[in-house]
Amino acid sequence: MAKPDYCLRGVSGDGSVKLWLAQTTALCEEGRRRHDAWSVAAAALGRLLTAGVFFGQNLKNESDSVTLRINGDGPLGALAVVAEADGTVRGTVGSPHLELPRRADGHLAVGAAIGRGTLTVIKDMGFGEPYAGTVELVSGEIGDDIAQYFLESEQTPAAVGLGVQIAPDGTVGAAGGFMLQVLPHADVKTIKQLELNLANLPPVSQMVADGLTLTEMGGEVMLGVPWRELSRTPLAYRCTCSRERLRGALLSLGYKELKALYEEKRAEDAPAEVVCRFCGEKYHFDPAELRQMLDELDQERFRDFAASLQNRLDTALAQREQQGEDAAPEEKPAE
Ligand SMILES: [Zn+2]
Repeated sequence: MAKPDYCLRGVSGDGSVKLWLAQTTALCEEGRRRHDAWSVAAAALGRLLTAGVFFGQNLKNESDSVTLRINGDGPLGALAVVAEADGTVRGTVGSPHLELPRRADGHLAVGAAIGRGTLTVIKDMGFGEPYAGTVELVSGEIGDDIAQYFLESEQTPAAVGLGVQIAPDGTVGAAGGFMLQVLPHADVKTIKQLELNLANLPPVSQMVADGLTLTEMGGEVMLGVPWRELSRTPLAYRCTCSRERLRGALLSLGYKELKALYEEKRAEDAPAEVVCRFCGEKYHFDPAELRQMLDELDQERFRDFAASLQNRLDTALAQREQQGEDAAPEEKPAE
């Protein structure tokens, strides 16, 4: 049983460097298990889930959420992760059963699996238009791409390390990550020291596998730079789906598609199965319930029709009155 996941936030003594560290073995394994992801897909999903944690920990309000989406042209397909401010994350991967040979250096070929494309970050504050920023992928290895996002979209230089180690049995053996943000008032000596530290840093997943605590990992990343811990947050893979939400998704198919589904299921005398793409949870809707949903849509269509009919009647009446007024003077000479 892996140690419970958590995220640690820290800051340098002079406040010029912000630090995030996360141990994510259990949540990456939960994501892998939910999607039955094979090694390269599990590593890619785990890295993005870990990055999601950092974004989630940056949200201001408890009810805010952030979505990270990677659209690459590689064989892995699209990836998406949603992170909540409370430390929970969930994600989905296009082709969980992708198999690719490892790279020459022995690492999983995450960059090749993702290919070229974009990373989009969507922050939903619960009101108004969500904020979205998109950057071109640098390498598809995810860590570099996240760093690029901070540089381009938030004008903050960042260093991001994400690591997921897949055990020989295909499960996630160790996972974690770190993120450093360097603020404009950081002095050159601090920056040089951090660059040196990162160049000599063992892979994050190795440090987690070796049993280092996040405080110890922080000590490696910030070697020679005084820093202190600000907060710790427990992390978990958790989906927020519900029967009601999936019912809403079915309704959003529209009358025509839902009717086709209803007729198919009625003929089979079997329920329609809707699978949540984030957690794999299955929800069933029997033909009678589909019929009821169609009725709801039908009533809605009738209301829309009635409203538009009323509109047209009003317009026609207004036009007639207008014409009546225009016509009135013409009638006079005929008298
Ligand atoms: Zn779900």
